[in-house]
Amino acid sequence: MQSHQANSTTAMHQDEESHRMSGNENDRWKRVKGRLRAAVGEDVYSSWFARMDYEGVESNTVRLSVPTKFLKTWIQAHYADRVLGCWQAEVSEVTHIELTVRSSIRATPMRDAKPPANDDRKPAGVGGRTDGRGDARNGAAVLAAHDVLGGSPLDPRLTFANFVVGRSNTLAHAAARQIADGRRGEPPMFNPLYVHAGVGLGKTHLLQAVAWSGNSGDERRVLYLTAEKFMYGFVAALKSQTAIAFKEALRAIDVLVIDDLQFLQGKTTQAEFCHTLNALIDAGRQVVIAADKPPTDLDTLEDRVRSRLAGGLVVEMASLGEELRLEILKSRVAAARLHHAGFAVPQPVLEYLAKSITNNGRDLEGAVNRLLAHNKLTGQPVTLELAEREVRDLVRRQEPKRVMIEDIQRMVARHYNVSRSDLLSSRRTANVVRPRQIAMYLAKHLTLRSLPEIGRRFGGRDHTTVLHAVRKIETLVGANLTLANEVDLLKRMLQD
Ligand code: ADP
Ligand code: MG
Repeated sequence: MQSHQANSTTAMHQDEESHRMSGNENDRWKRVKGRLRAAVGEDVYSSWFARMDYEGVESNTVRLSVPTKFLKTWIQAHYADRVLGCWQAEVSEVTHIELTVRSSIRATPMRDAKPPANDDRKPAGVGGRTDGRGDARNGAAVLAAHDVLGGSPLDPRLTFANFVVGRSNTLAHAAARQIADGRRGEPPMFNPLYVHAGVGLGKTHLLQAVAWSGNSGDERRVLYLTAEKFMYGFVAALKSQTAIAFKEALRAIDVLVIDDLQFLQGKTTQAEFCHTLNALIDAGRQVVIAADKPPTDLDTLEDRVRSRLAGGLVVEMASLGEELRLEILKSRVAAARLHHAGFAVPQPVLEYLAKSITNNGRDLEGAVNRLLAHNKLTGQPVTLELAEREVRDLVRRQEPKRVMIEDIQRMVARHYNVSRSDLLSSRRTANVVRPRQIAMYLAKHLTLRSLPEIGRRFGGRDHTTVLHAVRKIETLVGANLTLANEVDLLKRMLQD
């Protein structure tokens, strides 16, 4: 009886901790990986299997995971048997391999799902502010302080508490958080922090979160400015001959946050920006910058500004993955429910929106607002049909992913085990000619490049050569099912 109890406790414990491997399992997984590495070679192994994880085993099925759908499709299409074979060599009973895409969310726990203590701006007690970071100021106090500094308006919704962390923004978020939590006088770890991303991917949200959170104690002053505001502030100061005061004011703050730096224009303002940047950095103050491109691509800026910008930590935020979009939608709906309790969006609708609105965070917000408006005005529940109707234009605006010729060449070369330079070379052996033709065919079908341009990108070939290749593959694909499937898979993976 006793031993039975002990056993079931152990079993339960193992169950809870099933994501951790026992020593045996770990060794076995290592051996399987060793076999796989030997079977496919180091190159293939590190390209496709380095990020494959062991998840567990149930009866005869081994569960493995990879971080992207792309890897999953590829491994299933090309290496399913190999992987199974390597497992069977270790554990003969294994008959199936189940490959899943592990969610980025699991890998990076969303510690912001609950507001962190110092982000929870409760109203300060009688007597107002206190020193010390522990006592968070309320939103109004932060705003007032920020206004005094002449900062750009802050949106109360753009806080860390509402910022969802996923694979595409983990690093940017961690860096921003670190800065927001810093103390006066602490030397910055990276300076400036430079975040870049396309429209609607959360730059402004992250920067404003730094301003809210950084200003929530009395200790430090964080100033959030758009580049435009910086420009006009400076121009106005010049006109009213208070430029010195403006500069002094800027240099008195602890953290300067500048959004949309790509809009900084004009020689004088740029020079002034450069001085301010240098002065702040040299004085050990933190600078945070966001722009829509990396520093090296901001070609209206002078070289020395660019190199100063590139000298800190440059982080890109990638486009929002589907899981992240789903979490953002959920958090938006939760926020809306605070004011409109009757608003409910069923899970299938959320999933539909996350899947189909891939453009950016702004469209996600727009979608939730429309559903909310509809629900408020008509009182009708949110259904899938309603959602499809309401967001049709947001979905349709999606363009298919832009595919680059280099990516096509790389993918095709890897697939056929030749090098990319083979594809561009003048070699005419059969093992190079066919892949080259397929790559040209894909370039024609997946990009908007003209035939002459494609020819140029394939080692300076003539457009008639490209045309010939495209026709050839079109014919072959019509006649040969295996090739058709192969080309189709390549297409899907390039567009994934
Ligand atoms: P950007 O400044 O990069 O153009 P924004 O910061 O204005 O983008 O974000 C656009 C919208 O998407 C905002 O409503 C923002 O709150 C939302 N958003 C973007 N990324 C996230 C995220 N990681 N978590 C929560 N909301 C996000
Ligand atoms: Mg922005």
